[in-house]
Amino acid sequence: MAQALSMLLDELASGRVRVIDLTQPLSNDTPVIPLPPQYTQTPIPSIKVHSRYDPGAPFAYSNVLEIGEHTGTHFDAPIHWVTGKDLPENACDTIAPHRFVGPACVLDYARESAADPDFLVTPDHILAWERMHGRIPKASWVLLRSDWSKRTGDAFLNMADDGPHTPGWLPETSRLLAYERDVLGVGVETVGTDAGQAGRFDPPYSNHSIMHGAGKFGLASLRNLDQLPATGAIVIAAPLKIVRGSGSPARVLALAPN
Ligand code: MN
Repeated sequence: MAQALSMLLDELASGRVRVIDLTQPLSNDTPVIPLPPQYTQTPIPSIKVHSRYDPGAPFAYSNVLEIGEHTGTHFDAPIHWVTGKDLPENACDTIAPHRFVGPACVLDYARESAADPDFLVTPDHILAWERMHGRIPKASWVLLRSDWSKRTGDAFLNMADDGPHTPGWLPETSRLLAYERDVLGVGVETVGTDAGQAGRFDPPYSNHSIMHGAGKFGLASLRNLDQLPATGAIVIAAPLKIVRGSGSPARVLALAPN
């Protein structure tokens, strides 16, 4: 099928297929997920200049990064969650690379998420989407468009006294996608793949628990999902090949028809 690849190159060159960047900028200002106080907090990202054409490195500029694996736009591997800790090929370095590429199913719940920051995708939402767009294919990325990536400052984490309020998935929805649709994983625009209040769900952090227990992946802090069609785009989301890595910041790209 060399012909398919040469056609793809032609379509990219002509602009009929676009490369859409689903990645947030990564900096020391990137917000990190706030955890309940009893847990170890995610480190604040630190990106520092190592050298900048200075006497120690007159020809070179480089930075040193000290960041958690789960920072900014990033990939969650099954080993990230205790439910996935003993699965085969569950870490950043052992996942087969073809599983980083798949068709995108984009579920647009921007309006619902604006009306209710605790909006949860239900199995009925999935079935309604499928009546419009066809069955979610095996090994696809299911992306929740909430327009949350357009929020800035405190509105992005949306913290209250009882924790964050951000949209996500009912446990039954994660089960449906993982076991009945056999997806690659889910992607969201929020800071993590679980709803803000999911620490109170059964099981706690149900999307992480169910998806990673089923060997599925997560993508968090995506953007530009409003530029994707409901179907027809291809997402490429590859983590750094960190040995036994639980996840990593990623440059997540979509190929989409123009
Ligand atoms: Mn994560």
